Amino acid sequence: MISPAASPERYALIVIGGGPAGLFAAIRFAEAAQGAATVLVLEKKTHPCRKLLLSGSGQCNLTHDGSVEELLGHYGSADKGGQAARFLKPALYACSNTELLSWFAARGLEFEADTNGKYFPLSRKASSVLDQLLSEAKRLGVVLRGGRRLRAAQAEDGGFNLSVERVEASQGIGLPSELRDESLQVASEGYRADRLLLATGGASYPATGSSGDGYAIAAALGHRIIEPRPALAPAYIDDFPLVGLAGLSFKGAGLCLRRAGKKLFEREGDLLITHKGLSGPLILDSSRDMSPGDTLELRFVAASADEFRGRLDALVAAGPKRQLRGILTELGLTRSMADEFCRLAQLPSGGELKAAELSREARQRLCSCACAFPFELKALGDMDEAMATAGGVTLEEVHPKSMESRLVPGLYFAGELLDFAGDTGGYNLQAAFSTAALAGASCIRSLIART
Ligand SMILES: Cc1cc2nc3c(=O)[nH]c(=O)nc-3n(C[C@H](O)[C@H](O)[C@H](O)COP(=O)(O)OP(=O)(O)OC[C@H]3O[C@@H](n4cnc5c(N)ncnc54)[C@H](O)[C@@H]3O)c2cc1C
Repeated sequence: MISPAASPERYALIVIGGGPAGLFAAIRFAEAAQGAATVLVLEKKTHPCRKLLLSGSGQCNLTHDGSVEELLGHYGSADKGGQAARFLKPALYACSNTELLSWFAARGLEFEADTNGKYFPLSRKASSVLDQLLSEAKRLGVVLRGGRRLRAAQAEDGGFNLSVERVEASQGIGLPSELRDESLQVASEGYRADRLLLATGGASYPATGSSGDGYAIAAALGHRIIEPRPALAPAYIDDFPLVGLAGLSFKGAGLCLRRAGKKLFEREGDLLITHKGLSGPLILDSSRDMSPGDTLELRFVAASADEFRGRLDALVAAGPKRQLRGILTELGLTRSMADEFCRLAQLPSGGELKAAELSREARQRLCSCACAFPFELKALGDMDEAMATAGGVTLEEVHPKSMESRLVPGLYFAGELLDFAGDTGGYNLQAAFSTAALAGASCIRSLIART
């Protein structure tokens, strides 16, 4: 049943999306407004920050150690000439990792870095981060309404008219959870905003609420959308030859990505073998630059092909009676990997082969397995699996120093809705918080300037 829209409620700022970007932008706006301007957050799901609660496996890897310049090296695609980093620079300087950690610490929530430089709350609970955001929002008088989905926004007379669907929570009781707060449109509401901030997230993990609505809304307001695609997604390989090694992980593995024979880039990082292909930070972080049909050439040992071959030849010469398995483990392979590579190199007695019996061709095949194993990418994990979305509102149409639209005055953006994607390690949440801080502060500045 759809009830008729009431006359619009009016706010100085309306934020669409109660994710980390939306909540933080509203908080920073309210902090600076000191009660002089009202802010409303409309969230589609009954409860805010569903994705935040999943982050870091429920522990929330909020940010990463390093200088701002170092952080900036972790955004964007390899082929875009640093566009995302250039865009994010003012936001990350306005609210850096140290500033963000201090903001939480000043409110009683402490974080610690793990050995890889990833920051987590001491509680290791993402819910502590959400609780802190909610209590701060409440203290500052931010109005938060769940079960409200923005359907359309229209820029008119220096402000925005919003058309919103409202879902009554009580109507959802007894329904399966995935339907409870999404499918029951029971009323439509109208709102009027002096400033509008879109923080609707990307399109990955759509069950959390970020299902790509913001793209259509931004497009209707005139913005160009770079086609959203999964980022931080695992790679699937047809007839995966290393299925027997599923679960193995490697530190400091190497990836060389080739397209139609041409090398696109080389990277190092931690790798995980899965039942259907490859994952781990090395693959997840590179996935935004991969396409089906690409060749992923992997190095499983900390040596170049020439070094590996040289050391293999030397060990064979020094111990011709040794079993090959022992030599390969001395070269940095695990026992199971040594056996698997011997099988793939078609050695009849596998790892038990005596070193002296190893032909030149077999040495070369082993060397290729260990240092340049080629896998053809069949597909990347889809939006249900990807931890971030690449693509989104094009950065060219947004002012990097304020997050305001270059096309529609008074319209602001924050978070993953924008066309950037960060590596794993806290970079995506940091960017969501930084762009939000800048957008919230810019909104209140522009309202003050108007009066
Ligand atoms: C499993 C998983 C683990 C992750 N772990 C980490 C991590 O440890 N560290 C890290 O840095 N990043 C991590 N990320 C990424 C990170 O969570 C996101 O980049 C971040 O949440 C983006 O924040 P956001 O506020 O821009 O968007 P979101 O968190 O997606 O929030 C957007 C909000 O907008 C709402 N919304 C959408 N459309 C509408 C509408 N029409 N009307 C009203 N509301 C709407 C949605 O319901 C949602 O609540 C992880 C992601 C996933 C999926």
